[in-house]
Amino acid sequence: MRTILLWMARNPWLREHLPRLGFARRAVRRFMPGEDAEAAIGAAAGLAVSGQGIVFTRLGENLVELAEADEVAAHYRALLDRSTSLARRPELSVKPTQLGLDIDAEACFRHLDALAAAAADAQTWLWLDMEGSAYVDATVDLYERLRRTHPNVGICLQAYLKRTPKDLRRLLPLEPAVRIVKGAYDEPAAIAHRRRSDVDAAYQALALVLADAARDGHARCALGTHDSGLVERIASFAETAGVSRASLEVHMLYGIRARELVRLQGAGFPVFTLIAYGAFWYPWYMRRLAERPANVLFALRQLLP
Ligand SMILES: Cc1cc2nc3c(=O)[nH]c(=O)nc-3n(C[C@H](O)[C@H](O)[C@H](O)COP(=O)(O)OP(=O)(O)OC[C@H]3O[C@@H](n4cnc5c(N)ncnc54)[C@H](O)[C@@H]3O)c2cc1C
Repeated sequence: MRTILLWMARNPWLREHLPRLGFARRAVRRFMPGEDAEAAIGAAAGLAVSGQGIVFTRLGENLVELAEADEVAAHYRALLDRSTSLARRPELSVKPTQLGLDIDAEACFRHLDALAAAAADAQTWLWLDMEGSAYVDATVDLYERLRRTHPNVGICLQAYLKRTPKDLRRLLPLEPAVRIVKGAYDEPAAIAHRRRSDVDAAYQALALVLADAARDGHARCALGTHDSGLVERIASFAETAGVSRASLEVHMLYGIRARELVRLQGAGFPVFTLIAYGAFWYPWYMRRLAERPANVLFALRQLLP
């Protein structure tokens, strides 16, 4: 089921046609407050008042025209200005291919560099999402370059990739901000762990290395997962090494396990909700379905009157 859904996420015909269907538009609302920035800011308001951090991402990936990247960058800069009413400053998370990585890596770097500077002016952070394995080298390179001049940038690393422990070791001397996730794409067994228990073990090992650096203020450690059992296990191992929960951020996606995130906040973890919005939601939504096939039933139920 996961493989089929991830194939559907990549299929150009489905990308073009499925989002037009009413039931699909109704189903996506579970994970997305709306298609425009107003909806995202509205959803963030209450969460920010309750002390949660907010990360905004406008959905989009694999641009075909470089000019579109200018519009994306301008949108994010305007979003920072428009979010000043929120009780906490929102952070931004972007996909490098949304800023033209496929077309011109140098232009993509210039956009990210300017966005990191705009985020610094707004006293907030810019994160780089991690996309399919073909983009990992380029994304880690971009991060290294950005981190040289911007302390307020973070990167996502995927625990399912066998290369990730090496990438993390490479980045640690930069005192990085890292969001560890399990990984959302369909990667072959040659380069990725495929069994859930292997992914979880890899995740835990990475998190403990990062937590160790976070303890001494040499990293920002963000656990991007809805797997609260895994978070608790990591926290209890980290505690024995002197890392407090206050150093272990938990980041979840809007609409998924929100009550569990509030519980973790009460238990002493700094928590963040990543709010995705935008018109180009199809591949992102299909990846959310692939993570939990029960979500497909929810989507199909939207076919009923
Ligand atoms: C803040 C954040 C940022 C992310 N950024 C990236 C990124 O840049 N690159 C990338 O490859 N991946 C990213 N991901 C996705 C990630 O890789 C996983 O695919 C996703 O988080 C599902 O794995 P899990 O860690 O939640 O654990 P799982 O073991 O899959 O899930 C744990 C529990 O959470 C619940 N759950 C998980 N997913 C869903 C869902 N879709 N719907 C309903 N319930 C669910 C289920 O109850 C499940 O039992 C991100 C995830 C988060 C939370």
